[in-house]
Amino acid sequence: MRIDILTICPELLESPLNNSIVKRARDKGLVGINVVNLRDFTTDNYKTVDDYAFGGGAGMVMMIEPVWKAIEKLKSERDYDEIIYTSPDGERFCQKTANKLSLLNNIIILAGHYKGIDQRIRDHLITREISIGDYVLSGGEMPTAIIIDAVVRLIPGAISDEQSALSDSFQDELLAPPVFTRPEDFKGWKVPDILLSGHAARIEKWRHEQAIERTRKLRPDLFEE
Ligand code: SAH
Repeated sequence: MRIDILTICPELLESPLNNSIVKRARDKGLVGINVVNLRDFTTDNYKTVDDYAFGGGAGMVMMIEPVWKAIEKLKSERDYDEIIYTSPDGERFCQKTANKLSLLNNIIILAGHYKGIDQRIRDHLITREISIGDYVLSGGEMPTAIIIDAVVRLIPGAISDEQSALSDSFQDELLAPPVFTRPEDFKGWKVPDILLSGHAARIEKWRHEQAIERTRKLRPDLFEE
């Protein structure tokens, strides 16, 4: 998989893309992530990427030309399955979307800023718009990092124990069961006996029951589904 990110603030993406599972997946060659600075596609000395909104009003708007040039250049090099814009009014990001995106070959993600991007970018260049929740952030870099993290960990080989991603919350419409590690007894707080029994089938059954119980209690909406 290859992901190209269009941003005016590459620094914001550095840490999330260069640590932990995403870093390992990049190192193993499972995913190529390329950060494109939109300021490299400006023509003036100030590397301007924003301008006043037509019709007035507070806030600047990201201009179409640098975005168009960056996308044109990328498209001349390969075909893209999706050109995604992160936006509070997009479809709500969820595990199902992460699963689907993880199966694609090439995607572009555009991180917005200011009041947003010129609507013509959305109308003519973007194929999909994704929101990470009903709140407004200052820029699309953190949403982009979140989408990439959720997607990359699903690529086979990204996580050492592949089962691990499959048994996470939401993969089967259930929340994950609780997990414990050593010590067995911490100041009187004990690990459930069943987990120490060594009885694999019973442990599996207990975990499933816990997952159902937690989903019923914490996310009745999911449980109904
Ligand atoms: N005026 C816009 C918000 C702009 S916020 C509105 O009211 O909808 C600036 C940028 O941050 C957006 O262009 C988008 O790329 C990003 N952003 C902010 N909140 C987001 C969210 N919940 N999900 C995805 N992207 C978001």
